[in-house]
Amino acid sequence: MQLRPAIRRLSAELQAHVLEVAAAKEKDRKERRRQSFVKAQAKRCQVQQKRREDQQRAAKAGPEADFRMAQCTGEFLSLPTEEQNRERIAAFIDRTGNEALARGVCIVCAREMMYGEGE
Ligand SMILES: [Zn+2]
Repeated sequence: MQLRPAIRRLSAELQAHVLEVAAAKEKDRKERRRQSFVKAQAKRCQVQQKRREDQQRAAKAGPEADFRMAQCTGEFLSLPTEEQNRERIAAFIDRTGNEALARGVCIVCAREMMYGEGE
């Protein structure tokens, strides 16, 4: 069904009304989508929280508890976050790259030295 030409034939007042109704419907649809997203997000958080609690409970039981506790997030000796990991890797690359490890001969004493030392 071709709605567009039919709507164009309506009076300006009716056209405005149709637009208004369409906008309201769209807004309602978006709001419902947002609400379902928030609900799903809350559910995901709940599931994650439960998993974390289960993990911690399991870690506390039995031998090697300290080591396994370290693998739970948000605890003493916990593993670094993803961001911390990336930072460390970037720092490692900076300090072990060709530029950082370049060597040269000192023009005063003729010793081979790191370029960084001569600056
Ligand atoms: Zn020298």
